[in-house]
Amino acid sequence: MASKLSNQEIKKTESLESILNKLRQVVVAKKLKTSKQREDILSIIYNSKVHLSSEGIAAVMKNNNKNCSVSSVYRILQFLETYGFVSSIDVDKSGKKYEIASKEPHYHIICLSCGNIVEFIDTDIKNKQLEIAESLQFQLISDNLRLFVICDKCIKKQKGF
Ligand SMILES: [Zn+2]
Ligand SMILES: [Zn+2]
Repeated sequence: MASKLSNQEIKKTESLESILNKLRQVVVAKKLKTSKQREDILSIIYNSKVHLSSEGIAAVMKNNNKNCSVSSVYRILQFLETYGFVSSIDVDKSGKKYEIASKEPHYHIICLSCGNIVEFIDTDIKNKQLEIAESLQFQLISDNLRLFVICDKCIKKQKGF
């Protein structure tokens, strides 16, 4: 039996300040207006321990007295994703969830029932992928592994515990 995999904390590879500086450079280069909301949303995603939906981000903004409609949040997220600051994961039922792009490569386990996401790193999987690519004399550039599950909490709920 494999040991139980807890939600590993995946390390960030860059500081928030450095990411915000890059965002400001893009904003200047694209001749866009500076937007505090854009920086606030990037900071929320950076500091969040969970993957957030656009609705979730709008709720955090509201809690911080920085009202921002879900549609504005969504527009900003599209911008941030286009320029590689955040990445999204498709969670079938609850739509897209976002995380900061500057994280160590990792995989996702997604509960199809509640949309909860668990992150993990597994060197065996990584090595197997390298082995497969190399056996074909290919160079592995990136990978994207998602496991779709019904999580333990949802199984218990289904059983009526
Ligand atoms: Zn679940
Ligand atoms: Zn992740």
